[in-house]
Amino acid sequence: MNTFLVVGGGITGMQAALDLSRLGGRVTLLEREGELGGNLRRLHKLFPKGESAADLLNAARIMIAKGNVEVITGRQIARVTAQPTGYRIELAGNGTALEVRGVVLATGFDPFGPAVIEEYGYGRLTDVITAFELEEMMKSGKVLRPSRGIAGPADQPLLFILLLHLCHQGGPCIKSAVPGGRDKHSLHGHPHPVPL
Ligand SMILES: Cc1cc2nc3c(=O)[nH]c(=O)nc-3n(C[C@H](O)[C@H](O)[C@H](O)COP(=O)(O)OP(=O)(O)OC[C@H]3O[C@@H](n4cnc5c(N)ncnc54)[C@H](O)[C@@H]3O)c2cc1C
Repeated sequence: MNTFLVVGGGITGMQAALDLSRLGGRVTLLEREGELGGNLRRLHKLFPKGESAADLLNAARIMIAKGNVEVITGRQIARVTAQPTGYRIELAGNGTALEVRGVVLATGFDPFGPAVIEEYGYGRLTDVITAFELEEMMKSGKVLRPSRGIAGPADQPLLFILLLHLCHQGGPCIKSAVPGGRDKHSLHGHPHPVPL
């Protein structure tokens, strides 16, 4: 039997689970958090097409619900044992065990915590925020200067600090910062983001 476990219920894991299921596999999708979606849940609009991240995820959730995919949320793997035909996977908690032929790891990324680099001022300077915090503001429709609770003057640029050694050329960090990579209207009066 073609049974698979996909670990990580972000958009990659959701798509992998759907693809395996369409190929005739019996698929379990395991997500450690309470719901599917991963980091995309924190984003507003997506480049390159500008579609809403929430809409994209909702469409994926609907396809998962209609497909032949078992979803387990709020759980993680406790133990993996190799077997002649695949793997025995024990989940932490209530002793659930799965026997699968293959495992797809789609565990994504955890965002970098900028407070460890003191010179950035994150956590010390109120107006230094992370890209995810900016996304939250754009989702709410209010991009406001945190220290004043109002939009900054339109002629003052937003500065983006990028960890270039972590950013692939043309990847998300660059595109989320450079002019044209953003929906300028969501930046409410800040049409000139400047990457550093
Ligand atoms: C600021 C910012 C802006 C971005 N903008 C865009 C954009 O405009 N367009 C675009 O295409 N991309 C964008 N990206 C990139 C996008 O966020 C990622 O490509 C996407 O989220 C990757 O999805 P993923 O499923 O691979 O990983 P994730 O979204 O990280 O999902 C991984 C999932 O695995 C789960 N997980 C982890 N470990 C375990 C475990 N041990 N057991 C079970 N579950 C586990 C996590 O809880 C999570 O749900 C942006 C990224 C950032 C940071």
